Amino acid sequence: MTPTNESLFERSQVVIPGGVNSPVRAFGSVGGTPYFVERAEGPFVFDVEGKRYIDYVQSYGPSILGHAHPAILAAINDAAARGTSYGAPTENEVRIAEEMCDRVAGMEMVRLVSSGTEAAMSAIRLARGATGRDKIVKFAGNYHGHTDSLLVAGGSGVAQQGLKGSEGVTDGAIADTIVAPYNVVPELDESIAVVCVEPVAANMGLVAPVPGFLEGLRAECDRVGALLLFDEVITGFRLCRGGSAEWFGVEPDVWCFGKVIGGGLPMGAFGASRETMGHLAPLGGVYQAGTLSGNPLATAAGLAALSLLTTSAYEQLTATATRLQEGMLGAFEAAGVSAVMPRVGPLLGLFFVDTEPHDFDSAKVAADNGMYPRFFHGMLDRGVALAPGAYEALFPSLAHSTAEIDATIAAVAEVARTL
Ligand SMILES: *Cc1c(COP(=O)(O)O)cnc(C)c1O
Repeated sequence: MTPTNESLFERSQVVIPGGVNSPVRAFGSVGGTPYFVERAEGPFVFDVEGKRYIDYVQSYGPSILGHAHPAILAAINDAAARGTSYGAPTENEVRIAEEMCDRVAGMEMVRLVSSGTEAAMSAIRLARGATGRDKIVKFAGNYHGHTDSLLVAGGSGVAQQGLKGSEGVTDGAIADTIVAPYNVVPELDESIAVVCVEPVAANMGLVAPVPGFLEGLRAECDRVGALLLFDEVITGFRLCRGGSAEWFGVEPDVWCFGKVIGGGLPMGAFGASRETMGHLAPLGGVYQAGTLSGNPLATAAGLAALSLLTTSAYEQLTATATRLQEGMLGAFEAAGVSAVMPRVGPLLGLFFVDTEPHDFDSAKVAADNGMYPRFFHGMLDRGVALAPGAYEALFPSLAHSTAEIDATIAAVAEVARTL
């Protein structure tokens, strides 16, 4: 008998906590049964019951070209035929590091890892090692993966579960973490090693930096000799060719990447100047390592993705996001539904309120007002898959044509009338 979403969810809950391998997938904050994916292609995912969805989850960002892009598949197949992991360096690791450093002005060296979490965790250790200081600053509602010291006031799934942080994290682990409100430049002192920020916050819905925020952080870090870290796991190679530094004209000291750079395979990276990266083993005393780091399948997929992410690709992505934004806002307005859709280039969010949130407190009020679950299920019923949580961004891909965007807008118009 072919499995159904229901039967698979029942079985999965027996052997996998909550039935999922990452909490946001569990539909906990929207209710109902997750769809189990059988395959995906371009802008679509297909569940095990054969239902097709226009997909705005897109793996939460990595599938920027759309699912199963032929160039990515060819690169992975070609790499796989030559072996899947060696424990020795490869040419593609050099090539992707060169490509990243070429795109990101000021970043001179990178180290490849296997996830965004690992990138942020390692970058924090590097920053502490490089400055000889202990304290770190993060912003409420920014998510930097699930490493202990960065989980406090995390966005994304942490926020969806209504958690302040996580059980199992010791007071010691967060004693050196200072949480500040997003979009306000905190006053620092010389105990601060690094200030971590999502240059566009995309894990509390989408919250853009107010003018002067990133510039202010840069100046305040310089004043006390702290490093500025841009967590570009979502924004990197999605916002534009060079990422947030190029977009906003503010250069951090340390960068974290993930999602897009793996082309849909597990990969992350962190980078900095040659001097800062010189603190990393084997050059320096900050240890960091990984059996599967720089994995040949992941570097092949990542290189294939980056090679297609040209300036015109970013223009297309922004045009797609803009069409979706304008169409959806029109549909909400016609139905008398209060909604805002913050957009920064191709990055797009949705809140059911009148004014755009600017920090975690206002984002929480907007995300938890009960509208999103109803909208989500209305859309899912009509074959449009959004993230099952109000704290996530929308991820239109390069494979979303105007036909899919307009079909989505038509579905929004129907659902909006029911809200
Ligand atoms: C997704 C995300 C991470 C964590 O990356 P994983 O690959 O899920 O470990 C870190 N920072 C930001 C900004 C993210 O969006």
